[in-house]
Amino acid sequence: MVENVIIIGGGPAGLSAAIYLARANLDPLVFAGSPPGGQLTLTSEVENYPGFESILGSELIEKMKNQAKKFGARIKDENVKSVEIRQSRIDKIGQSQIQSDKISKNKTDYIRFHLITSDSIQLNPITSKSIIIATGAKALWLNLPSETRLRGKGVSACATCDGFFFREKIVAVVGGGDTALEEALTLTKFAKKVYIIHRRDFFRASKIMQERVFANKKIEIIWNAVVEEIIGKMHVEGIKIRQSQIQSDKISKNKTDYIRFHLITSDSIQLNPILSVLNVDGVFVAIGHKPDTDIFKGQVEMDERGYIITSTRKAIDKIRHNQMKSDEISKNKTDYIRLNPILSDFNFDYQRMTSILGVFVAGDCADPYYRQAVTAAGTGVEAALEVEKYLESN
Ligand code: NDP
Repeated sequence: MVENVIIIGGGPAGLSAAIYLARANLDPLVFAGSPPGGQLTLTSEVENYPGFESILGSELIEKMKNQAKKFGARIKDENVKSVEIRQSRIDKIGQSQIQSDKISKNKTDYIRFHLITSDSIQLNPITSKSIIIATGAKALWLNLPSETRLRGKGVSACATCDGFFFREKIVAVVGGGDTALEEALTLTKFAKKVYIIHRRDFFRASKIMQERVFANKKIEIIWNAVVEEIIGKMHVEGIKIRQSQIQSDKISKNKTDYIRFHLITSDSIQLNPILSVLNVDGVFVAIGHKPDTDIFKGQVEMDERGYIITSTRKAIDKIRHNQMKSDEISKNKTDYIRLNPILSDFNFDYQRMTSILGVFVAGDCADPYYRQAVTAAGTGVEAALEVEKYLESN
């Protein structure tokens, strides 16, 4: 049997795509993962998903799942272990014949087959005319037992999602990249005080973000510090930090004129300068994300961090590249940029298509920027509508 579409991922992106494709009578098969549900199931309350003033992340996922099932989507709570993307053709009696990889990419009399192997179907791989990759991304954590225990009870990896719960409270952000600084700035809209705990004496974040952080009076930076433990029984009450010797006169490599070293002066710091306890109500870990895309490596185009590249992103990157080049080399720069029509293997009729015809992507595994449940759901719908169009015309 050849499937119309297989959706890999059971978070908001995959399930929104499933709802649309099931309603379009395309009988989607969803591999929702094990345990299913993605990042949303790790958060407690969600207050920024339109239509729900407040709902548990796991409950929201359950509702999406039931909605998709109601329209006929088949959902398996299984992990896809490997994916092999190949091309094959349908012969006159409808039998598929796997062919070599050399078949022309845009030839419409060939249907592309995607062989998928999961636990239960290792011996009998599934083939499909199209795929939506919606495997998400995982926030990186400090891997402290106390952090895992208090996740959703004051420990978070998303200020946009959870900042609201910390009005007039004291919070700490861990990390020194753009995400950490952005999280800290977001949190200043709610919290009365925001600490940034960073393991070095300089930030790797962009200068403009650093400027904003340094100018914000609610933010205090604790340099050269590592979080050793998050304190609290039922919810976060503080953090134990270990600080290496602060060298306030040391000139950091990335230091700009306005970088100052903020020594710890807070009353809430006790013990000694090496091992300290900081009283905080929330901890936001912002040390990076990792998209769950390992099984697609070498098959679809990704950036250096593993985010899958859509045709839209490819075009934007190309425009940026051309812009930079023209800024550099042309004094008589025109105010428009012409796109090179040959941009690798991407098909620009479909915005959510990857570098491989028939393979679409939605949600956080292709989104290093927004990472919200609602944006993931939105791109899931886009991918579903494009799959529908693709299947009609192929
Ligand atoms: P980055 O990898 O840039 O930064 C991660 C930060 O976390 C680093 O400061 C790193 O420290 C620190 N860190 C890593 N592991 C640990 C650990 N175990 N304990 C303590 N600290 C740790 O990730 P980001 O998510 O910040 O950014 C990813 C990319 O996305 C970047 O290219 C960034 O520029 C981009 N981005 C852009 C934004 C924008 O333009 N508005 C917003 C957000 C992200 P160290 O410095 O010591 O390595």
